[in-house]
Amino acid sequence: MDFSSELQVLSSYIERAEKVVVITHMHPDGDAAGSTAALAHYLQDFRHKTVSLIREPLPDTISFIDEHFTPVSGDKAREVLKEADLIFCTDFGVLDRCGEYARELAESKAIKVLADHHPEPQAEAFDLLFSSSELSSASEIVYQLLKGLCRDEEERKALLGGACGYALMCGMTTDTNNFSCSTFPSTLMMASELLAYGINRDEILEKLYNRYRENRVRAFASLLSEHFSIREDGIGIIKVSAESWHKFGLQEGELEGLVNVPLSIDRVKISIYLREDGDTVRVSLRAKKGWSARELAVRYFHGGGHELASGGKLLLGRDLDSFGEIDDYLEKIRL
Ligand code: 5GP
Ligand code: MN
Repeated sequence: MDFSSELQVLSSYIERAEKVVVITHMHPDGDAAGSTAALAHYLQDFRHKTVSLIREPLPDTISFIDEHFTPVSGDKAREVLKEADLIFCTDFGVLDRCGEYARELAESKAIKVLADHHPEPQAEAFDLLFSSSELSSASEIVYQLLKGLCRDEEERKALLGGACGYALMCGMTTDTNNFSCSTFPSTLMMASELLAYGINRDEILEKLYNRYRENRVRAFASLLSEHFSIREDGIGIIKVSAESWHKFGLQEGELEGLVNVPLSIDRVKISIYLREDGDTVRVSLRAKKGWSARELAVRYFHGGGHELASGGKLLLGRDLDSFGEIDDYLEKIRL
């Protein structure tokens, strides 16, 4: 992806900016954490800007990705958005993915820069776009962007060989599910370059995939054996009620990855994971190549995302009266 003309413009925006905000989507994942942390590092440590990070706290499973910044939230975050002169938005392309901050973001007079990899971004909402769905992750986009902004090889080495490069490797690894999807030639080049700069990928893999609590593995086993079904048309469905969630004492982020498991079965084309969370049913969808998770997310779950990985929600009291009615709702779904 050639972002060279955009990079010149961005460099001048950064030069002039005094109050910079970095913001990502609600329920941040590894890519949201990695891409925001990397940008914040660069802006603060290499361009000496005052940076405010706006995002919800990270689940324990990925909190190691960003231990250096304390995010702001609530009224403080809204105030910061009002006063900012430059706002970086990462890992989302439509403003309503920012949840409670979507309105302030839309109304802010600041210059808004998008660094994202979702198809069909809301282009008119941003002043400058670094956007391509032909790159693995927002972290890969930020990687390209920061590489281009560095003044020389020495600066690149200092930036990408340190905490910034570490965060980017984490974000890319989680969004590609450790290179099992969305992996482009540029993604492998990024990984190779970061390794050459000295980023410790073994440590990252250990922290991402080998440090779960025992509960998580037992919950996987039980949910897959008792609350997972496969329809005739090849849609696999996992239902996690609030009761199951509490039974296993689960924490936010601990069922990350569960939605991928049904795709390992030959006849499953699409996997849908539904989790009751207060008055919302959170929905994750994954598809095999040739099927569209995104289409189902848009059509049935007020959501969107990528062709093969998407998400959305249902509201109790609007779409259904209780989680117990979910089977009737799912009956409507046609591939
Ligand atoms: P996950 O299943 O990991 O929560 O989300 C997978 C992908 O679906 C995310 O990277 C994001 O692109 C998309 N996604 C998740 N939830 C929503 C949503 O509520 N709205 C939209 N537009 N996209 C979503
Ligand atoms: Mn992402």
